[in-house]
Amino acid sequence: MNVEEILKTEQLNKSYENGLKVLNDITFSLKKGEVVVIIGPSGCGKSTFLRCLNMLEPVDSGTIRFKDRVIDRANKDVYELRQKIGMVFQSYDLFPHLTILDNILLAPIKVQKRERSEVAKEAEELLKRVGLSDKTKVYPRQLSGGQKQRVAIVRALMMHPEILLLDEITAALDPEMVREVLQVVLELAREGMTMVIVTHEMEFAKAVADRVLFMDQGVVVEEGSPEEFFRSPQTERAKQFLNMFH
Ligand code: ADP
Ligand code: MG
Repeated sequence: MNVEEILKTEQLNKSYENGLKVLNDITFSLKKGEVVVIIGPSGCGKSTFLRCLNMLEPVDSGTIRFKDRVIDRANKDVYELRQKIGMVFQSYDLFPHLTILDNILLAPIKVQKRERSEVAKEAEELLKRVGLSDKTKVYPRQLSGGQKQRVAIVRALMMHPEILLLDEITAALDPEMVREVLQVVLELAREGMTMVIVTHEMEFAKAVADRVLFMDQGVVVEEGSPEEFFRSPQTERAKQFLNMFH
């Protein structure tokens, strides 16, 4: 494996119990510091792919490597790996009965066994960076969707992930809140965070991606730089898909 590659899949195949084949021979690699954006029609397998990368789903065949290790789902390594590959979803999944600060501190204290005082300091710094330093003591219901999603990003960052997977994190937000969340992601990209991002925000994809993958029906149909891909998509399927956004 190339030293720069941090995550690599070879010929991943995945079906669900009903026999539906959702991922078809996906070979993919991600370099440290790279931002890959995955786009494609609803139901084409984007979320399934991200969940497989994070070992939240078993695959039928193929391998996933993180750095120099082939990940075996049966192995305890998976727990360690999930900490190194953070994920943020469309629904923020904050605990309603915990304050924002406690939501953020939960995993670092419980899972990573870190000291509350140390992680609280870090949490406050991160909340400040995303413009939420005054929200430590409030509850999720007191925040807007965009604020909750920024908290969810901070919660993922608290685990010091080496890779972040973002699955349509603005899809449930009102338009005026999309920007504040995407801004945070753009800043993370600028700072060199390695990310795989699924989004339907095409302008954002252009701005943030080092590389774009277009998926359809469980297959990576096209792959290229955002400039190439958005200017001159090669396949009919990609052209049709992009036309929906004009
Ligand atoms: P996308 O994120 O691109 O919209 P998904 O990965 O969510 O696509 O879904 C891909 C396909 O797999 C869809 O046909 C979806 O209905 C199906 N699917 C997703 N999750 C499950 C599941 N847990 N069980 C059975 N089928 C599923
Ligand atoms: Mg999805």
